[in-house]
Amino acid sequence: MELVLVSTPIGYLGSGRGGGVELTMRSLIKGLLGLGHKIILLAPEGSELPSDCAKAEIRHVAGIDQPSWQHQEASAPMVIPPDGVLLALWEQALDLGKSCDAVLNFSYDWLPIWLTSRVDAELFHLISMGAVSEVMKTLIGDLSRSDPTRLAFHTFRQASDYQLSLSPEVVGNGFILENYAFQPEGKGSLGWAGRVAPEKGLEDAVAVAAALGDQLIVWGVIEDLSYAAEVEEAFPSGTIDWRGFLPTIELQKEMRNCRALLNTPKWNEAYGNVVVEAMACGVPVVAYDRGGPGELIQSGHTGWLVPPDDVDAMIAATSRVGELNRRECRNWVEEKASHEQFARRIESWIIKGINAKKSLELD
Ligand code: UDP
Repeated sequence: MELVLVSTPIGYLGSGRGGGVELTMRSLIKGLLGLGHKIILLAPEGSELPSDCAKAEIRHVAGIDQPSWQHQEASAPMVIPPDGVLLALWEQALDLGKSCDAVLNFSYDWLPIWLTSRVDAELFHLISMGAVSEVMKTLIGDLSRSDPTRLAFHTFRQASDYQLSLSPEVVGNGFILENYAFQPEGKGSLGWAGRVAPEKGLEDAVAVAAALGDQLIVWGVIEDLSYAAEVEEAFPSGTIDWRGFLPTIELQKEMRNCRALLNTPKWNEAYGNVVVEAMACGVPVVAYDRGGPGELIQSGHTGWLVPPDDVDAMIAATSRVGELNRRECRNWVEEKASHEQFARRIESWIIKGINAKKSLELD
């Protein structure tokens, strides 16, 4: 197939502002190229792809970043800034959509979803967040009733936020396993990775490390500076070891030595890339049983799941990570979440959607 992929409009690929979507797109592009598909990627200026995605054609699109829904009121209206990159991306996508087989959307935005039943192009949407906005929740519910084949989700827990007409298409996610080295021994500090922002609950992970007299290594973009400063001040100095945002290869080199990764989402995390990246290195994950991580971790095997927001339970579980077999963590990722498997799931979702439309047209 000839596929057009439309990147997130909230930051260029490589900036970290797109969160897990950036890694998801890179893994998927490699996987789809491996299956022999032709890929055109539309992405904000400055976006880059690694050398293993060199066969994809990247077209840069200029424009102002789209504000993310993550930090807006649930009732906030849809806003498109003048000269916004979202509009510019979709002008090009609709143009290319006239001749390509399918256009695959990675942005969590109103415009591309609203367009779906109003244009001839075959549009598909991989929804990357739970229902953080009412206007998005309503629109996704409406599209599910008019054409459920156009939507896919990362996990069942994420999809349960939406009122869908059928059981959801759940495609998981994919990881380029050769980018993560398995580390059988993990005697190092505790780790935490993600965008540093309130919905990620960093303060709970720091509380666990402080209670165990440990240090917490933190990787990721500091999205909310005042929140980061508040968390820093609330605990004994030196509890957090800030390492900043690292490229995947550097991230896994450091993360793989951890005894455990702590994952403390305060929202319905759609998937939780960092959970699977840690497991790919053999690092067990102690997480709140909320959102995607609750579906990805097999408690007692690849980590421990504890009741959401229960810091005491997380302290107790973290002190038991030595009972887990790090090989089981890596095995789970190999069996369930390679980039090849992910690309095949996406391919079959798109083919099913195209065929469903064709059979409706024949009727
Ligand atoms: N990440 C990274 N370098 C860092 C810290 C994080 O590349 O130093 C990436 C990580 O690989 C993951 C993303 O940031 O793909 C965070 O995604 P996740 O799904 O965990 O959360 P989101 O930000 O999408 O809510």
